[in-house]
Amino acid sequence: MAEQYQLFFVQRFKGKVLFDVPMSQYTSLGIGGAADVMAFPKDESDLKDLLSFANTKKFPLFILGGGTNLLVKDRGMDGIVVNMCEGFKDIVWAGDDGDTKVVVGAGVTLSLLLKRCKERGLSGLEFAAGIPGTVGGATIMNAGAYGSELSCVVEGVEVLNLKGKKSFISAKDVGFSYRGSSLPEGSVVIRVHMSFKAEEASVIEEKIKEFRAKRETTSPIKCPSAGSIFKNPEEGVAGRLIEEAGFKGVSVGDAEVSDVHANYIVNRGNAKAADVLGLMARIRDKVYSQTGISLEPEVKVVGRD
Ligand SMILES: Cc1cc2nc3c(=O)[nH]c(=O)nc-3n(C[C@H](O)[C@H](O)[C@H](O)COP(=O)(O)OP(=O)(O)OC[C@H]3O[C@@H](n4cnc5c(N)ncnc54)[C@H](O)[C@@H]3O)c2cc1C
Repeated sequence: MAEQYQLFFVQRFKGKVLFDVPMSQYTSLGIGGAADVMAFPKDESDLKDLLSFANTKKFPLFILGGGTNLLVKDRGMDGIVVNMCEGFKDIVWAGDDGDTKVVVGAGVTLSLLLKRCKERGLSGLEFAAGIPGTVGGATIMNAGAYGSELSCVVEGVEVLNLKGKKSFISAKDVGFSYRGSSLPEGSVVIRVHMSFKAEEASVIEEKIKEFRAKRETTSPIKCPSAGSIFKNPEEGVAGRLIEEAGFKGVSVGDAEVSDVHANYIVNRGNAKAADVLGLMARIRDKVYSQTGISLEPEVKVVGRD
């Protein structure tokens, strides 16, 4: 299999390719075994080639953004991890300076896009101040905070399917939900079309400051984590339920429930995915036995069993 990979990567692929890559270096939790191959497509045609190659050979693929919502298991990942962070970095504003519409590459970070919006006096993305990751990953996750989310500013997405065929899917068909979306299986987001509102720079600045300050006091921003581990259930707030179940500060190995925000599991240094999964299982069991509420993971758990 490695030979088949290598031939394709030497002869066709223009971007960078790495073999046997520790995923711990590509996730905000700093956890995860090795990926067989990590490919960084340089542009759309490179990605198209890669998708159709993997599809023909039936190699498994995983699309990686910033790795900030991921728990990769200790035995690593089969197949090809497609890292979107080196290509797809364009930010193209429509029309004149006063225009409020933009087409953003999936590999652009939310923080860079927010910075550009602020410079142009465009409002709508302030909620994302302090949310790490890429525009592609945030769109798939429908990332959100403080009463707003990506779906409020997305007009549509450009995707490639597993065969490398491109299409535009409008926001209403993206299937946005609370911390999720339902694009057709295997869709790779390459660009996101967004629309903002013109606003005074000082008003935007003020909102960003307010959200950042909130985040700094209510979450363990200095420790490696994947953000919220569980989604908020309909019946309440996950962090409160976990805290009431007595988990603040509880650890398994080096994985610890933050004592700042109980819905964050932080890596104290050498945590393994198995530690995080063990802690998640204990939390789910106890919260369920105490309240009858079943917590659903927000973090995406991937990799070999
Ligand atoms: C400190 C911290 C705070 C956070 N705070 C918040 C918060 O307030 N609100 C919130 O919603 N989230 C939060 N998160 C979670 C995370 O930052 C968001 O979900 C984020 O936007 C994910 O983007 P990413 O690029 O890192 O995606 P990744 O983690 O790389 O991937 C997430 C999912 O998207 C898929 N994916 C990624 N890119 C693409 C693409 N181009 N095409 C198709 N599929 C793709 C991946 O396969 C995976 O299934 C936080 C995380 C951290 C570490």
